[in-house]
Order: sequence, then structure tokens, then C-alpha cells
Amino acid sequence: AKADQLEQPLCFDASLGLEKDARCSLEADIEAGLERNEFRVVYQPIARARDGKTVSVEALLRWEHPTRGAVPPDVFIGVAERSRLIRRLGDFVVDSVCREIPPHAGFTVSINLSPTQLKDPDLCARYLEKLGAAGLTSSKIELELTETVLVDDFEQAKQRLHEFNAAGFRVNLDDFGTGFASMGYLHMLPFSKIKVDKSFIDALGKGEGPNKMLQALALLGDALNLDMVAEGVETESQASMLRLLGFEYLQGWHFGAPMTARALAERMNNAA
Ligand code: C2E
Ligand code: CA
Ligand code: CA
Ligand code: CA
Repeated sequence: AKADQLEQPLCFDASLGLEKDARCSLEADIEAGLERNEFRVVYQPIARARDGKTVSVEALLRWEHPTRGAVPPDVFIGVAERSRLIRRLGDFVVDSVCREIPPHAGFTVSINLSPTQLKDPDLCARYLEKLGAAGLTSSKIELELTETVLVDDFEQAKQRLHEFNAAGFRVNLDDFGTGFASMGYLHMLPFSKIKVDKSFIDALGKGEGPNKMLQALALLGDALNLDMVAEGVETESQASMLRLLGFEYLQGWHFGAPMTARALAERMNNAA
């Protein structure tokens, strides 16, 4: 049976049935796309709630495929996570940040990590080395992790988080509220910020329930001494409600859409 398994083609996965073909071809495409330079990183401003100043930017991957067009990260990240491609994409993001963000930029850069990237024992050392070579320090980098990472292997996640912290990275909990996994774990892990998922912000002002939910989340942040970041803030009325609720940071189209490094540099120059 073992020999049979080994002889199966790389992409064979009976449980996925027909889907497997699409996934395999996407995998091959991601690899080709990396070689053809079709990926790039864009940066979305994260504003300090108090004064609207851009204090951080989130690095977000973009893929412009010659025939598929713009492939959303939600699609290709998921495929890449099931293969070693996620490591290459992750490294591509860090390399881009190192190349595009000046060492003395007056803001931090948030980088998303997939749960599977935590299984890479060299990740922390490799990122440190890349940053060091570019004159950037880990204190300028915030790593974003979603709740799913905690369900997978809590002990491993915890160990990695401590490792990142010891290396000078801040680690933030992303998409908070979309699962309930981390509620009980939150206080056991060295997070710096909680990013509240856009779905909660969308519901703001649409009844007492959603407002109370956000109020409770903001109180939770206070209790745990964690800064709260609201995602997907699209209007000034949302922004002012979130300020009142005590959110420290606001991110969304109202403060700026993801943009190229060049556009970001221009924006920061104009603001200075
Ligand atoms: P995320 O980490 O929650 O990123 C925030 C997403 O919300 C981004 O979508 C951003 O463009 C979008 N967004 C921000 N403000 C607004 C707004 O006001 N309105 C609306 N409608 N959307 C807003 P994007 O860039 O499509 O990324 C989707 C997801 O893909 C990300 O969600 C993240 O989970 C993943 N992703 C993106 N880049 C990377 C990466 O480099 N590595 C990893 N592991 N995942 C990534
Ligand atoms: Ca994120
Ligand atoms: Ca998020
Ligand atoms: Ca707060």
C-alpha cells in the first residue's frame, strides 16, 4: 500500500474529487507566476484613531495573471497553503517589504502569516536575516495571525509567538470574531493588538445588537491590555463610532485603499 501511495501523482487527492484538477493547475500557475514576476505587494494604511495619522501599513499580496486577470488572495493563498508555495509567497512578501519600505519610514509594516507558515522552524531566523540585510529591524514589523492558528496546534503556536516576541516582532490577532477558538486562549498568548473582522464593522449602526458586540470587544481589549484595530472602516460615521468605543486603530477604505509602495511614499511625503 505504501508503494502505491508513493507512485500516486503529486496532485492526487481522492477526497477532493474533481476539484483537484483546478487546484493543481492553480498551483502550477502560482509557481509560474512567481517566475514570471506576476505578484506584487500593495500597502494599506492603518490610522491611529485619535488623530488619523498613518502609523502602520498592511502588506497585501496581489496577483495579476495574464489570462485569469486579478486573482484574489483569498483564492490563491488557500491553494498555496496546501503546498510549499506558501513559503515562497511569504518570502516574496518579506523580500518586497525589504526592497520597498525605507528603513527609516515612520510607520510599522504588518505582514500576514498563514497558519501553515508557523510549521516552518526557520521562518523567524530567515525573516530576521532578510530584514537585517535591508537595514530594517523586527520592531518595525507586526505579524498578523488568524484564530485558526490556535486551533491547529496551540502549543506550537504559543511557542512560535514567544519566539517572534523574543526576536522583537509584535504579533497581532487577525480577523477576530470570525471564530470562537481563541476566546479562552487570548490571555495566554503574547498578542499586541486584536484586529476585529470587517463583518462587525459592517453591522455598526444597524441596530443595538452589533453596537453592543463591538462595545464588548472593546472592553475585552481594555481588560486584556490589548490595542484594538477595526478592519474595513468605510465611512466617517463608522470611524467616529469606533473612536467612541475606544478602538485605538482604524483600517479601511475611508483611510485609504491598498496602494503601491510608490503611491504610499507619495502619500507619506504629502502628509509630512
Ligand atoms: P485580511 O488579512 O483580513 O486583509 C484585509 C482585507 O480587507 C484585504 O483584502 C483588504 O484589501 C480588505 N479591505 C481593507 N479595507 C477594506 C474596506 O474598507 N472595505 C472592503 N470591502 N475591504 C477592505 P485582500 O487584499 O483581498 O486580502 C484578503 C485576504 O487574503 C487577507 O485578509 C489575508 O487573509 C489574505 N492575504 C492577503 N495578502 C496575504 C499575504 O501576504 N499572506 C497571507 N498569508 N495572506 C494574505
Ligand atoms: Ca490581515
Ligand atoms: Ca483581517
Ligand atoms: Ca481600547
